[in-house]
Amino acid sequence: MTEDFYDILGVSRDASDDEIESAYREAVREYHPDVSDDPDAEEKFKKAKKAKEVLTDDEKRQMYDQMGHEQFVEAEKRGATDDGGRGGRGGDPFGGAAGGGGPFGNMQDIFDQFFGGSGGGGGNRRGQDLKTQLTIDLEAAYHGTEKELTVTRPEACGECDGRGHPPGTDSRTCPDCNGSGEQTRVQETAFGRMQQRTACQRCEGQGTIYDERCSTCRGDGIVRNQTTLQVEIPAGIKTGQTLRMRGEGAPGESGRNGDLLVEIKIEDHPDFDREGANLQTRKAISFPQAVFGDTVELETFDGTVEFEVPEGTQSGETFRLNGKGMPRPQRRGSGDLLVKVQVVTPDSLNEEQREALEAFAEAGGEDIEVEQGFFDRLRNSF
Ligand SMILES: [Zn+2]
Ligand SMILES: [Zn+2]
Repeated sequence: MTEDFYDILGVSRDASDDEIESAYREAVREYHPDVSDDPDAEEKFKKAKKAKEVLTDDEKRQMYDQMGHEQFVEAEKRGATDDGGRGGRGGDPFGGAAGGGGPFGNMQDIFDQFFGGSGGGGGNRRGQDLKTQLTIDLEAAYHGTEKELTVTRPEACGECDGRGHPPGTDSRTCPDCNGSGEQTRVQETAFGRMQQRTACQRCEGQGTIYDERCSTCRGDGIVRNQTTLQVEIPAGIKTGQTLRMRGEGAPGESGRNGDLLVEIKIEDHPDFDREGANLQTRKAISFPQAVFGDTVELETFDGTVEFEVPEGTQSGETFRLNGKGMPRPQRRGSGDLLVKVQVVTPDSLNEEQREALEAFAEAGGEDIEVEQGFFDRLRNSF
């Protein structure tokens, strides 16, 4: 019996990337050679890893589904799965129209990711997942936010309900495939003779052809539409994380839309750096504050907080404010806020300050030659 990659991970053939990832993580927990005493653990671990690798790569998964397990593994040994891939799939009927971006912050054109027709399989195929990006600032990531995202994406044609032909159009059985929707092709390839079953080109896998095409979608059943979606962004999200919006991807058969994957980018912040769940910032204090200690105010994403600078603080010392960092999603609590204090050396003094500082130096036994006009010159040089 040959296990295929879906069996190995115990997922269905239309499993989403998320389902595959989580099945893989489960397999890792069970079979990781460092934790398992199953003698076959290493082998099983490797298989699960390979399965995940192929099934989460859209192109490879498509090839895998088309070729079947054995042929794919065979082909891959010969390095034949890394090129080719999506090959010519009938041109994009909409050309390169409609620009994205422009003055609209989050306008995304994700139509180009979508490669026409439902291509093979037939029956009840799920629509493709689409990917886009959304940029937010660190403060929004701190609090969590709801953002509008405008996307141009493929949707089922409203004129024909996604059928590609006007309601009531006469239909007949496709003569090329006798209604099966499939064609079998034998191909000579670099790695031998391959029998490939593909969707019938004439009827696009439907088994039926229609006498008339819908003029709005030109028979594809799909049009491009601009849509504005509300994206819920959880507090504590990190850059590079992806939110999955169920059913907001490309249309599939029987309403089984793909998902929209929104990758979050977080802009750098001028005052706060993020290090995991911790935030880092800087705070300038004066020389007397460093010497005597003081209660210092600091602006954070949650308003003003106070912290104690103890007497005798050195420039560059870091103070940790517990729980004032980024929230940790899924887990409770937050990281910490690390405040690095900088003791500011004055670059200008008034007469009184100058005398006091000279007296300070003298009282400490320091013998400093202070030239008149020193600070004036220093100031001019900035
Ligand atoms: Zn056909
Ligand atoms: Zn239509």
